[in-house]
Amino acid sequence: MSDRLRIALQKKGRLAEDSFDLLKKCGLRFSIRGGGLLARVKNMPIDLLLVRDDDIPSFVANNAADIGIVGENVLVEEQLTVQSKLDADIAMRLGFSRCKLCLAASDTGKVQSSADLNGTRIATTYPGVTARYLSENHIKATLVEMKGAVELAPSIGIAESICDLVSSGATLEANGLTAFETILESEAVLIRSERSLSAEKADILDKLMNRIDGVLKSKDSKYIMLNAPKSAVAKITNLLPGSDAPTIMPLAGQDDLVAIQAVCTETVFWETLEGLKALGARAILVLPIEKMMS
Ligand code: ATP
Ligand code: ZN
Repeated sequence: MSDRLRIALQKKGRLAEDSFDLLKKCGLRFSIRGGGLLARVKNMPIDLLLVRDDDIPSFVANNAADIGIVGENVLVEEQLTVQSKLDADIAMRLGFSRCKLCLAASDTGKVQSSADLNGTRIATTYPGVTARYLSENHIKATLVEMKGAVELAPSIGIAESICDLVSSGATLEANGLTAFETILESEAVLIRSERSLSAEKADILDKLMNRIDGVLKSKDSKYIMLNAPKSAVAKITNLLPGSDAPTIMPLAGQDDLVAIQAVCTETVFWETLEGLKALGARAILVLPIEKMMS
């Protein structure tokens, strides 16, 4: 058995680019070209298995891959529909490919809210998640399982409503549909099985997860530098979002001023800068942070 960590990724689609991007930011060097199923990472003992997103949970569960990156929606659907317990679960949330699984119907039809669903038909490619919602809410409706183009179901008369993925809502709108209920919020997740890994693979996974953590943390983080009157230091440091223990240094030849530097782990808005300025801060710089490790 090879001691290269194998990661299942979507080959092409809405998860693919951001997944590749994340791994590149973690320092993995690879190139995805041609139709190959496997891409080798050049500078680390890692292989990328490039597949359809729907196959990722079962590949991880069945040991075709050690870990995978997939939409939570696909993972949960697979967990709910697979015969025996699926040996794949979330190890880390990744914050991209955010979307929602929503119930939607035509503005002019008889279904306008969940209260109208009893005795109707719902078209979906997510029978597992939809059935769970119906059972939790004691609704009796018929599921019409489709493989795609679910948004057409009401207009061709095979269902009164649909349960489908929504991000901007443009597809729904183009088909005269409006979402009336969100049944699952989803983002990309890193998944793994409960199987234990060889020491080598466990090490490399540990390293990778630490790097991913660093990439995710540095995304919103900024480094703030400013000069402030000594008398306002407490108020100013209070205003810095998500920073602990800022560095405070004297300024040469300026007894009443200090320099403050801090890492802010939350978004720094213009309003924050205006607030800092109002407290007497000057020469405010907000710098991006490329990498973080704590
Ligand atoms: P495949 O060919 O791999 O089966 P697919 O057509 O099933 O791909 P995509 O449309 O590429 O799937 O979507 C993959 C995942 O991206 C979805 O399961 C969901 O988690 C997420 N996703 C869906 N729509 C969006 C969107 N508009 N923006 C961002 N992420 C989305
Ligand atoms: Zn798919």
